[in-house]
Amino acid sequence: MTRPRFNRILLKLSGEALMGSGQFGIDQDAVASLAGEVKAARDQGFELCLVIGGGNIFRGMAGAAKGMDRAQADYMGMLATVMNALAMQNALEQIGVETRVQSAIKMDQVCEPVIRRRAERHLAKRRVVIFAAGVGSPYFTTDTGAALRAAEMKCDALFKGTSVDGIYDADPKKVASAKRYDTIGFDRVLADDLKVMDASAVALCRDNDIPIVVFNVRQPGNLAEVLAGRGTATIVQDGE
Ligand code: UDP
Repeated sequence: MTRPRFNRILLKLSGEALMGSGQFGIDQDAVASLAGEVKAARDQGFELCLVIGGGNIFRGMAGAAKGMDRAQADYMGMLATVMNALAMQNALEQIGVETRVQSAIKMDQVCEPVIRRRAERHLAKRRVVIFAAGVGSPYFTTDTGAALRAAEMKCDALFKGTSVDGIYDADPKKVASAKRYDTIGFDRVLADDLKVMDASAVALCRDNDIPIVVFNVRQPGNLAEVLAGRGTATIVQDGE
């Protein structure tokens, strides 16, 4: 199948991708390796926006499950995403990639606020823009933040980096005969509750016609491969 050609993409990484083989927090080597993937994509000429989750540090739902106020816990989760964004900014700048972090929660001493027009200028100057703090409100996730920024920045696709190489009809880690989809429709993903991203993120992409490309980001060189139309991935798009 010929894949669509993209120019500007939003790459969503879960916080867990920054843990490496650890159980918690930020592993510098893992961040450096992901930064290398991002640089390779940038060097291919793609315009890149990045959204990184916070699950390696704190998730609001986990705090709420242990009795915390959900909104309070969610704000902690959003702050965790800012720490991850700064770690990625550091790793990218160490390999010569200019970046800007824009946070949905203002923190002037640390990074810029989200300003779409300024983000456009950064992309034009070949900077990678890292959007932090999700949508800036509790009861959301960074998946939805990623879909929102992808729409706002008119990205051609949302790339969701995971630890599997696409979407399967069953869990490939448990079912040996699980079949991977090359493409699948938004409505099917929602109806079958295929845990690609949360439902609000999938619906936002569907309503704004932004394909979601699910691929394995842990495999070195894979982001560049998939961007070049090769490599293994599943594309969620309309009309499948
Ligand atoms: N969060 C939030 N609003 C947002 C984005 C994130 O409240 O718009 C909080 C929420 O508590 C979430 C945490 O930040 O659990 C970390 O984000 P997420 O779980 O999406 O990270 P990931 O699973 O991608 O690592």
